Amino acid sequence: MRCGKIVCVGQNYREHIREMRSDEPAEPVLFLKPSTSLISDGEAILIPEGIGMVHHEVELALIIGKGGKGVSEKEALSHVSHVAVFNDVTARDVQTAARKAGLPWALAKGMDTFAPLGAQVPLGQVPDIHSLELELRVNGELRQKGNTAQMIFPPERLISYISRFMTLEPGDAIATGTPSGVGPLQPGDVVEAAVLGVGKLRNPVRTR
Ligand code: MG
Repeated sequence: MRCGKIVCVGQNYREHIREMRSDEPAEPVLFLKPSTSLISDGEAILIPEGIGMVHHEVELALIIGKGGKGVSEKEALSHVSHVAVFNDVTARDVQTAARKAGLPWALAKGMDTFAPLGAQVPLGQVPDIHSLELELRVNGELRQKGNTAQMIFPPERLISYISRFMTLEPGDAIATGTPSGVGPLQPGDVVEAAVLGVGKLRNPVRTR
């Protein structure tokens, strides 16, 4: 399915909030990535010159099959057709500067190739999206490990909250946030994000 908008959730795991020296949010923190940032398994993450540090963030993505607005938590998962592994690639220095200045994260999060999305797996084939192990390796070395059980706002809450304000359409993706252990990517690295029971997403890193 071709992806529409990508709604990303920031600060949804406590350990990651701590490592970013942020405060726990009272409501989900949302931002968008453009569809032009999407790449698939095997495609290269391209880092533009001069943007400073770029970080990896392994996440579970929910793919919307049935659109809706004002979706209840009870009905939320009936709007999800597939799940996938996602890497919320982030120009961290650009984001940090924006945060300090009270400016948006759009550039830091939305550059071309900064949204690697793995193969879409039907929701019915995944055991339980509330207890999936997340892992991320760079050049084979384990960098991130977490479990979707640690989300502050679980998938039902996210879908309900987002759809209060933004109409969800078939093909939209919701990236549900990253556990702790985010860290830098360098040209020449190979980054492998995995959600056990969903799949793996492997991308080489290059300069543009
Ligand atoms: Mg993220």
